[in-house]
Amino acid sequence: MNPTSDVVIEIAYLIASALFILSLKWMSSPATARRGLFAGEIGMVLAVGGTLLHRGILDYRWIAIGLVLGTIIGVPLGKVAMTAVPQRTALSHAFGALCVTLVGTAEYYLHRPNIPKFEMSVLCCEVILGSLTFTGSLMAAGKLQEILPQQPITYKGQNFVNLGLLAVAVILAVFLVINPGHSTLYPFILAIPLIFGVMMIVPIGGADMPTVISLLNSYAGLSAAAMGFVLNSKLLIVAGALDGSSGFILSVIMSKAMNRSFTNVLFGAFGQVDAAVKTSAEEKTYRSATPEEAAGILAAASRVVVVPGYGMAVAQAQHKVRELYDFLTKKGVDVSFAIHPVAGRMPGHMNVLLAEADIPYDKLKEMDDINGEFAQTDVALVIGANDVTNPAARNEQGSPIYGMPILDVDKATTVMVIKRSMSPGFAGIDNPLYYLNRTLMLFGDAKGFVNDILKEIGTSHH
Ligand code: NAP
Repeated sequence: MNPTSDVVIEIAYLIASALFILSLKWMSSPATARRGLFAGEIGMVLAVGGTLLHRGILDYRWIAIGLVLGTIIGVPLGKVAMTAVPQRTALSHAFGALCVTLVGTAEYYLHRPNIPKFEMSVLCCEVILGSLTFTGSLMAAGKLQEILPQQPITYKGQNFVNLGLLAVAVILAVFLVINPGHSTLYPFILAIPLIFGVMMIVPIGGADMPTVISLLNSYAGLSAAAMGFVLNSKLLIVAGALDGSSGFILSVIMSKAMNRSFTNVLFGAFGQVDAAVKTSAEEKTYRSATPEEAAGILAAASRVVVVPGYGMAVAQAQHKVRELYDFLTKKGVDVSFAIHPVAGRMPGHMNVLLAEADIPYDKLKEMDDINGEFAQTDVALVIGANDVTNPAARNEQGSPIYGMPILDVDKATTVMVIKRSMSPGFAGIDNPLYYLNRTLMLFGDAKGFVNDILKEIGTSHH
């Protein structure tokens, strides 16, 4: 017995909990986000360090193997491109959930049949949430990485089958709580949620994956909090609760940004391509323009709103965009950036890129603040954004994105859209914006095209 190490562990956990809370708080503003990440990292080091001091640990060999394995998997995961962060995050949730499930299973087999009812109930919650989050997150990552088909797969009675499966798992869990010695039931409360996790994601389209991932984040957090009760760890309860609630709040914010209800996200089979919308695309006409023409229009404008999207991220065009911003601002043009809450592939994606290019924060305007201003805007310069500008969301009732709030770029005097082709964006649907009289298509890679505009501006001003 070494009570001093117990005190040290408790203090480490207490500081870690405080750091996790501060980390979330600081991460809510770009100005303090870096500090927030740092606080989270220190908190995690303290949490892991404190746990390693635990006197229940008699042999460090397995822990060392775990650390090495974790590092081998974790380091490359930390290096993925920014555009792959959503699926990377989903993978992290899968690992976390797998861990929670394995720990719960170990606890069950170590302590059965003498597990008090409360512990057994939280253990069941932990294992059910953990296993459905594990397979659900893997499915979500697969869909986002496009290893799995993005289209929702639906069949009649699907919700009934899915919810029925979950209900069976819950009923079996209740039996286990009443009689923890019934070990034959245990594999079922593990296996059924694993299947449910897969079935739950099958009917959800790619475009809803971000919301789903954030919801899975919340489940992973809740299962970790349940594990905290099983292992009697206050730190896990705090961290799990923070994770669970922040994930839930984020899913609500994202659902609102798409004007969808939770039930609609989970059971609505969003993202199914409307064949009628797809086929009509070829017949319409559009106008395109050269970098020279685009440069001329921009130079003559007095108000420009830049609308960045996923394509700007793919092309890594933010630094060129910054040069264009500098040039126009110097000329006295009023330039701002319109940020849609789900532009790109993760919440805050555009903010991160523009911050990286040192665009002043006060030039970034949120959707609700900027939408009223498009009517007084000379040029809306859309850079690799598509779905978030699609007017079909406003006026085509049959469209899969109908009801999603969009940036009203079509109200600007001139709309210029930089993208490589007429291909659709994430939702896989045509964009009527491109066929408007006021719209000019600027075909090319976002970085290359902005660079060409800069060259034109340069040549005409030297
Ligand atoms: P989007 O609708 O996916 O459109 C992006 C456009 O960028 C594409 O149409 C593509 O057209 C163009 N593009 C790709 N690479 C390019 C390049 N190198 N240079 C120039 N253009 C390029 O993107 P968005 O308007 O940002 O909308 C986001 C979508 O993703 C929404 O449907 C949203 O629901 C979904 N989503 C959001 C999140 C999130 O949390 N933010 C996460 C996952 C999914 P071309 O192929 O013709 O170039």
